[in-house]
Amino acid sequence: MTCFERSVYTFSAIVGQERMKRALILNVIDPKLGGVLIRGEKGTAKSTAVRALAHLLPEIDVVKDCPFRCSPIDRHEMCSSCIARLRGRGGVRRLRESR
Ligand SMILES: [Zn+2]
Repeated sequence: MTCFERSVYTFSAIVGQERMKRALILNVIDPKLGGVLIRGEKGTAKSTAVRALAHLLPEIDVVKDCPFRCSPIDRHEMCSSCIARLRGRGGVRRLRESR
């Protein structure tokens, strides 16, 4: 870790918040759930949990310059902008990034 990287709290070390943690895990397992809305008082580990879980996920390929981070492989999961680029001459360019 460099001095510029933020240390990430371990997801499994978060005590309590079982419903929030379960919702986040289920959303990772099946992204078609459409996301998770987390709300709560300040200091209840909302952001910490999200960062911790994101740190566990593998890097993925996404369409370069797509604000929605579309998959370059599955046309059915692409936004209209990526579809238009795919049909154009340039196609879509891949970029590997962490989630
Ligand atoms: Zn896209």
